[in-house]
Amino acid sequence: MIAVIESVDALSKRIEEYRENEKTIGFVPTMGALHEGHISLVRKAKRENDIVIISVFVNPTQFNDKKDLEKYPRTLDADVELLVPHGVSIVFAPGMHEVYPKGVELGSDIDLGGLDEYMEGAFRPGHFKGVAQVVKRLLEIVTPDRLYMGQKDFQQFSIIGHMIRTLHIHTELVVCRIIRESSGLAMSSRNERLLQKTRDQAGLIYKTLKAVKKYRNSKSVSELKKYGLKRLAVPPFQPDYLSIVDGFTLQPLNDINSSTYAVACVAVWADGVRLIDNIILKKD
Ligand code: AMP
Repeated sequence: MIAVIESVDALSKRIEEYRENEKTIGFVPTMGALHEGHISLVRKAKRENDIVIISVFVNPTQFNDKKDLEKYPRTLDADVELLVPHGVSIVFAPGMHEVYPKGVELGSDIDLGGLDEYMEGAFRPGHFKGVAQVVKRLLEIVTPDRLYMGQKDFQQFSIIGHMIRTLHIHTELVVCRIIRESSGLAMSSRNERLLQKTRDQAGLIYKTLKAVKKYRNSKSVSELKKYGLKRLAVPPFQPDYLSIVDGFTLQPLNDINSSTYAVACVAVWADGVRLIDNIILKKD
């Protein structure tokens, strides 16, 4: 039976019981409108822990665009339904006042190690401060053994990994592979807002990333970026950036061979929706 819990107090009581019974806890934070990408995280958490807790909270502090926040889908009943076959113990669906009660230190000065300066950080000011803030708060509430996040949000898990290390949080970060629609488009709650025609064509993003990977040894970084951006600039698609970065520091690379871990990350607009994706070019 899944319990849908809204209050921190009720959740804390359940967690105390689990701890008394020496259960391990896997935690999957989400903003809801669940799809197979989220479910893949849940499955992995279930395999590796006794108890799985998933949170559904559309966190306003990580939205730099008010319209995006307003339009973000909220489908809690359908989300719970989708989770039923997957052995989740608790869906934590708190209100604002539970996550951000008066008097609780929000950690707005969390050190992000400069990892927020590039890519999404550059295009979405304040976004990662909001993400770090909410994940820190949720980790304090849930105190999980393991935290499950998707590679789809490459910069996000890098920043959360940094936060966990610098704040000495006793939670292991587990990164899960990207789950895609049949077209190759990375699954996202925002895909629902695409026109069907656009959604069918959006495999272009992954195809471009794969081509960039294919040419990684025969083209320079600037040639790869030029090539990729040109391929992506087909209406209704309009790229924000295609960056080739070091997978540890997220610093832009001039030469792929200067790093042991190179990743190509991309953000593309279509139908007023911002889509992100990435591919690991090499990891020695
Ligand atoms: P969100 O609800 O978009 O905040 O995502 C919650 C978690 O699910 C994040 O760790 C995401 O990286 C992960 N996630 C979202 N989409 C996918 C996907 N297509 N494949 C794997 N993980 C995903």
